[in-house]
Amino acid sequence: MSKSKLIQRMYREVHSLDRSLLPTTAVQAVIDSIKPFINIYFSARLITLLTQKADTKEIITNIALVLGINVVIFFLASFLNNYNENHRMMLLDLENKKVEEKLYNADYALLNDSEFKELLHRHEEAGKSRWARLPYFMWTTLQFTRGVLTTIISFIIIIPLLKVGFLRTGNTFFERPLFIVTIVSAIAVMAVVILIVASKINKSYLEANEKYAELDRIFYSFIDILGDYKTGKEIRLYKEQNLIDNIATQKILTEGEITLRKISMRTAKSSSFIAILGALVGFGVYLFIGVKGLFGLFGIGSLVLYCGSFMQIISGIMMFANTLSKLKEILPLARDYFKILEAESTMVYGNRELYLSNGFELEFNNVSFKYPKSDNYALKHINLKISNGEKLAVVGRNGSGKTTFIKLLCRLYDVDEGEIFINGINIKEYTRDSLNNLYSVVFQDYKILSLTVADNISASDECDKAKLCSALDKANINERIEAMPQKEKTYLYKDLDKSGVEISGGEAQKLALARALYKDSPIVILDEPTAALDPIAENEIYSRFNSFVENKTAIYISHRLSSCAFCDRIAVFDNAELVETGTHNELVSGNGRYAELWKAQASYYLE
Ligand code: ADP
Repeated sequence: MSKSKLIQRMYREVHSLDRSLLPTTAVQAVIDSIKPFINIYFSARLITLLTQKADTKEIITNIALVLGINVVIFFLASFLNNYNENHRMMLLDLENKKVEEKLYNADYALLNDSEFKELLHRHEEAGKSRWARLPYFMWTTLQFTRGVLTTIISFIIIIPLLKVGFLRTGNTFFERPLFIVTIVSAIAVMAVVILIVASKINKSYLEANEKYAELDRIFYSFIDILGDYKTGKEIRLYKEQNLIDNIATQKILTEGEITLRKISMRTAKSSSFIAILGALVGFGVYLFIGVKGLFGLFGIGSLVLYCGSFMQIISGIMMFANTLSKLKEILPLARDYFKILEAESTMVYGNRELYLSNGFELEFNNVSFKYPKSDNYALKHINLKISNGEKLAVVGRNGSGKTTFIKLLCRLYDVDEGEIFINGINIKEYTRDSLNNLYSVVFQDYKILSLTVADNISASDECDKAKLCSALDKANINERIEAMPQKEKTYLYKDLDKSGVEISGGEAQKLALARALYKDSPIVILDEPTAALDPIAENEIYSRFNSFVENKTAIYISHRLSSCAFCDRIAVFDNAELVETGTHNELVSGNGRYAELWKAQASYYLE
């Protein structure tokens, strides 16, 4: 997308996120630009009136007028400044909200795409400062418009002066038209030089920013490590703080300091160059206006007006020159933002509803699947039917494809070959909500959010207290929750609430089980959420859980065969393939993969 198209799109985006910000920014730019000229104009007018010995009444009226206008303008300017600043800050949150919606609706596969992850990371990093992304763009817009308007107003005011300049009034060089041509050319050259130098200064500023960002990243990661309750144990016992401290000292005192000093020096040199240039041009301008004044071509009041306006030209040019170079910083971030919003979702859902009171038959028909950008099959030619109410165990070694089987069943990914049917109809024909409501899954890497217990378990704002107690009871964690300061309203972890409670891994796991029981879906899946437990404890949890899901279809996954022996049927996965199915007794007495693994695991636990 070209730069101008991108900028247009950014304005459209700002306007769609916040209807008021563009108009109020335009009004603020106009008021801010007019503000300095009011005092310049009235000072000139008052001086003229005084030198012309005008009526006291007229002088007082003018003073009252300028004071009145100042009160109104300053009130408006300050109100708009605060209003726009607050709205710019909120813009960042509105952007984030849009990205969050996108992430929720995106294909699950996208979350594992390295390019997309990098994009999100950059977007997140940029948003760590409120001085970033669209808010920064709107601030830059304000400065640019102010700069342009200030320059235009100043030029309009000094037009009569240029006319005066071309009238011969004497014989010195300062009175010739050539002098004014020199002055105007000098201002033009100065404008160009300011543009170039401002862009250089901005480049240095970007470099410094990058260096700061890198240092910030390192230091925040150290703070994370040192302040983390979990890593705190090892840091203390291995005295790792000295190691971290040495790296930190080296980073700040050597690398960081050298780079930043170099950049400060470069910026200082460029800034002083602009200052000298400004002083020279200013000197010429004052000389010109002064000489004309001396010859009596205009009064002392006009002298004030012209000098003041000339100074405003310089500040106007500087203002918009600065903003032009800021675009280099803003546009790549805007590109990232739009790329995130445009990330393609290829998964299309049908509009067929599933009625949860019915029974469900699931079927894999010759299903094969490779993860995106992977050459190896994670599942190959899987054929399996799961009947309603069946308790199925899926076993196999790590990496044999068990979790992938569940992900396909939940349609987190689409199959590459074959079909998955629910009640004889392709899974792709159902609505997203139907599929989501169908399963209660506890994954191996379950996540408990930093919200209240009730929010976590009910996964909604409305929580049925009786259902909650029953789920917590069944998961054997009710007593612990009752002992918490605000019972089920207690926050877990401390991210969102300072009084949040830290829970152990085992407790988190019980909450994950309670969440699945609360959801009460017709199909229940446990994907090794117990991997950290010993086989006996895992077996206990699986059988206990099984007694609560009596009439439902249940799928239990484990790489430990003993955990699933109670199931109606066992499906054995090996190296991406389904190699055997049968009951425990059938399989163990055979001489297939299951029997082999069973013997190996039994001997391992007997030792
Ligand atoms: P299991 O659950 O039996 O331990 P998985 O289904 O998790 O096995 O993994 C099956 C295969 O797919 C493994 O070779 C694993 O490395 C690969 N795999 C799993 N997840 C991903 C992923 N997100 N991207 C690429 N490959 C993956």
